[in-house]
Parts: sequence; structure tokens; C-alpha cells
Amino acid sequence: MKNNRIVIALCAGILLFSCQETDENVVPNQQQVEEEIVYSDLRFPPMKVNRVTENARMVESEYQAKLYMAEYIVAPGSTEMGRTVLFDNKGSKKLSIDFAPQSKMYGTPDMSYYIDSYRPASSLAPADSRMAIENSLMTWEGATCSELNLYDIGPAPFPVGIVASILGFPSVEAYGADIENLGFMPGAFFNFLAPGGENSILGVTFTFFWIDENGDPVDQNNDGKPDAAFREIYYNDNFNWAVDGSHIDLETVALHENGHGLSQAHFGTLFQKQKGDFQFSPRAVMNAGYTGIQRTIGKTDLAGHCSIWANWPNK
Ligand SMILES: [Zn+2]
Repeated sequence: MKNNRIVIALCAGILLFSCQETDENVVPNQQQVEEEIVYSDLRFPPMKVNRVTENARMVESEYQAKLYMAEYIVAPGSTEMGRTVLFDNKGSKKLSIDFAPQSKMYGTPDMSYYIDSYRPASSLAPADSRMAIENSLMTWEGATCSELNLYDIGPAPFPVGIVASILGFPSVEAYGADIENLGFMPGAFFNFLAPGGENSILGVTFTFFWIDENGDPVDQNNDGKPDAAFREIYYNDNFNWAVDGSHIDLETVALHENGHGLSQAHFGTLFQKQKGDFQFSPRAVMNAGYTGIQRTIGKTDLAGHCSIWANWPNK
């Protein structure tokens, strides 16, 4: 009993001390917020899905695809930071899911991408939008620690997107590339992720992974991580997008989303002012909130990227 009291007193002392230390670094009237992982009530059963080939033919996937998570980024002025939403969670902690060359759809370690042309932004010319997204992909391609060899699979014959289809938006339930930028969705799409999502969520990346006939995750490269199947990225058409700095910068958000496309998670601690403005420390592409134009990869972003991709296509 006596010992316990000493331990408690010691802990309290350490806590007080560390609080004081932290307080010195925090701007007054700001509150530190941790990224919260939330669980969705939506159920997406594992399913065989069709891959769209050239000539609009469909090929059924070898494995079943399962939706694992959604990671979203919020707009300035939002009262909460972006989050990771886990689907059909069985109480396990968040897994990291990585591509494995052996289970990739085209049998090459080169990373394929797709950019939708059926769901343009209301506020941007399609060519500007495409250029911004391509630029963001080339920025990740330019990281010297990795050899992604990103390549465009070209146009699809119709709008694709599995999540869009499941949520009732016009879309063919199919996929075509490792990283899919599936265009701009109406605000209502984002209310499935969070209440009021139409007014707070700028973009989201959905991660699917492969499972075998027994329902177990496929891990072809034995790295202890389920193999990513593909990722679907959607942008919110309820916002004004820009490529000239006048509104939300598409290249900045695309760099963030395609970072998720390349398996990176959110990074950085949020400090929120009482009025709702926020800032991240350190500022990074992979912060869960938009804080202005950032079209280059930060130090922590690069470290995260290289930890995943430096040895690709090996383990
Ligand atoms: Zn994000």
C-alpha cells in the first residue's frame, strides 16, 4: 500500500513535469488533438471484383477484395481533423497494408495509376485538374529513394469506382489501376464518412486488400502485412478547387491522397485554436488537415515514403 502511494506520487510528479515542458511549446488557447480512428457501421462484404482491361473487357480478380479503411483530409475551418475510418473491424488495431509485387494486378512491380475523366470538378477545367493530379504523382515519383515507375493506364470506357457504386452513385463496380483518382463526387458522398462531411472533407482514399478463399489476408511477399489490392481516391466537388492558389489547391490535396495511395498514413500533431483554426506540427503533406499550398514533399513525408518504398520491389 505504502509502495503504491510512492509510485502514484512519482507518476504524478512526472506527469506535472512533462505537462510543464509541453506547455512551453504550445501557443496559448490551443489544444492538442490526436488523430482518432473511428469505426464505420457500413458493411462492405469481401467480393470478387472486375478489372477493366483495354477494349472495355472485364476480368474477374483472382482474390476477393475487401475494403479496409478510408483516410480523409479536412478543409480549413473544420472543427475536427481528418480521420481514419475502419470498416468491418474486429477489434484489432490498425494494420499497415502494403502492395506486394506478386499480388499486383498487372504482374509488374511498376505502379499503375488512373485519372478519371467522367467526374470533373465544377470549379476546374478538366485539363487543369488532370495536370494537378499528374504533377502530384510525379512529385512522389521524384523521391530518389524509390523506384515507383508510375505509369498511366489510360482512359476507362465508363466511370469506375467500387465505393461510389456501393454508395449508390453512378459507377461501374470495377477497378483498373493500383492507385485510382476517381474524380469529384457530390458533397453527399462524404456524409457517409462523417456527419457534415460534405462541408469538411476535401478528399478521401479508400484502401482495399486481397483476401483468399479462407477469408485470410493475402501476404504474398511475407512481410507480415496484408497485400494492398488497389486504392480509390475521391475529391469533394462541394469545394472550390484551384490550380492558381485562389481556392483549395488541388495539387496539394492530390499529393496527400496519392501519398495514401502509396501506403502512407497520416502524420503530425494537430494544435487547434478555440475558434477552430488549426496548425500541425511538423507541417507535412500527410497532415490530416489542409493548411495551405504544399506541393513538395516534407522531411517527414520523405522518411515515411522511403521506409515503405526504398527496397521495392523487394521486401
Ligand atoms: Zn489523409
